[in-house]
Amino acid sequence: MTDGDESEDEYTDDEQSADTRNLTAENATSIETEDSDQNNSEITRSAPEKTDSEKIPSDSFSPRTEDRTSSLDDLLEDETEDTSSGLFDDLLSGEPIFENKEVLRPSYTPRKLPHREEQINNIATILVSALRGDTPSNILIYGKTGTGKTASAKFVSEELEATSQKYEVPCDVQYINCEVTDTQYRVLAQLANTFITQNQAILEDELTDLESLFEQCQTDTAVLEETQFSSPTDVRERIDTLEGKRGSFEEVPMTGWPTDRVYSSFFEAVDFRERVVVIMLDEIDKLVEKSGDDTLYNLSRMNSELERSRVSIMGISNDLKFTDFLDPRVKSSLGEEEIVFPPYDANQLRDILQHRAEVAFKDGALTEDVIPLCAAFAAQEHGDARRALDLLRTAGELAERDQTDDVQEEHVRQAQEKIELDRVIEVVRTLPQQSKLVLFAIILLEKQGVHNINTGEVFNIYKRLCEEIDADVLTQRRVTDLISELDMLGIVNAVVVSKGRYGRTKEISLSVPLEETEGVLVSDSRLGDIEDAQPFVQARFDN
Ligand code: ADP
Ligand code: MG
Repeated sequence: MTDGDESEDEYTDDEQSADTRNLTAENATSIETEDSDQNNSEITRSAPEKTDSEKIPSDSFSPRTEDRTSSLDDLLEDETEDTSSGLFDDLLSGEPIFENKEVLRPSYTPRKLPHREEQINNIATILVSALRGDTPSNILIYGKTGTGKTASAKFVSEELEATSQKYEVPCDVQYINCEVTDTQYRVLAQLANTFITQNQAILEDELTDLESLFEQCQTDTAVLEETQFSSPTDVRERIDTLEGKRGSFEEVPMTGWPTDRVYSSFFEAVDFRERVVVIMLDEIDKLVEKSGDDTLYNLSRMNSELERSRVSIMGISNDLKFTDFLDPRVKSSLGEEEIVFPPYDANQLRDILQHRAEVAFKDGALTEDVIPLCAAFAAQEHGDARRALDLLRTAGELAERDQTDDVQEEHVRQAQEKIELDRVIEVVRTLPQQSKLVLFAIILLEKQGVHNINTGEVFNIYKRLCEEIDADVLTQRRVTDLISELDMLGIVNAVVVSKGRYGRTKEISLSVPLEETEGVLVSDSRLGDIEDAQPFVQARFDN
């Protein structure tokens, strides 16, 4: 699967769907999955480090490619101890393609972000107030998926925190991904708990210092001279007060409290000391879509009541129109500053890929056309850098699987098809049931070799499918709408043709690979119950 966190909206590119038609089952399924990959690195990460003398051959199975050749030699020499049947040997013996695959993954935050200097500077110029102890304006960042919003925001926040530590200015950045943390309760609870933990650590440090001061001053009161305390009792009292405070911070449970109590907890925890807090709400459109704009309303009003601290909000949205749904007060407060991330063009994507490829791949592992082609494909896909990186990584994996010495143009084309198919499968899998039934009807007709399928034919088969699984039967009008939706998603192609005096009709055809799509549909438990659907379709010709 591709990264999965995107609502992919561009779905109607005819060329793309035509590409996916030629897919074979083989290249669709045989690539290692993200999961198996992660397991792999976890195992090696948790393996204890051994000294040379302790090393036994099986320990030297490290995916870090620089070790690979030598460990392989060790293994092959030591034939007496080799009890494996060689399942992995073939795979390991190919020339390694990757130097460090991790840098191509979405989770990696690059230190350099070419072609985002302007946006990054704009954000920094606004946030620098925080380092002067002033409240920065709220910022709203817009741009389509894969335009570098999250990466830039994280980069700026790391810089900001590092600088604030350097100059000892109390400034915190809190990053929240609202796709995961998607209700007001969760956002506030997460913020509250972060600050509570932080406050407790601060108190802990202070208490440790005071305890040791208390001990010293009992034998020698001179140590109090440089402090605010005049006697050991003073110190003791202060310790008691702080311990009381520490006890008063109660962690917010993940559910159960009334929201206003969660809000007060957060409020008190932030205001515990002087500081400027920048709250980054990534995928803010998802939060508003799911739970309305209450969170933003409450957060944007906080400053008028906070005594010691100040809060500033940075919202990041993939949806350019999401502010239409906001309360006008929230809208104007949140959008004090707006920064747009435009899509990358093919040349910019080339640069981005080039930088990453230098770290990710072995020298000479990429043939000349690989990066330009990845860039070109991703530029068609609204200039999505995530897509470009996915393509490059998948192409590398395909080359690795083929055990070739280098990644070739063909691997990129296969990668493009694979990613496209993964996306189709995901879209089909998450269709509402009625749409699945309509799509199933179209598939059954295509399997019967029916060309230029019309709406009436789809409707007839659809109706029988519904009867078979006891589903409600929608009207033909609604089914026509569902067909149009499938068309918009790029799953079918529906063209309106004129039938002269008989009016106009739609001619429908499937624009995704039939077998894989059918496979996804029958894996739906209810549709899977439709046994041997063929006779239905036959029946159509009898009517
Ligand atoms: P968005 O948040 O806009 O959807 P991301 O910031 O998550 O996009 O970027 C998608 C992927 O592309 C990430 O892996 C990111 O590291 C990479 N990326 C985006 N822009 C750049 C850039 N200018 N330079 C290097 N990598 C980039
Ligand atoms: Mg993002």
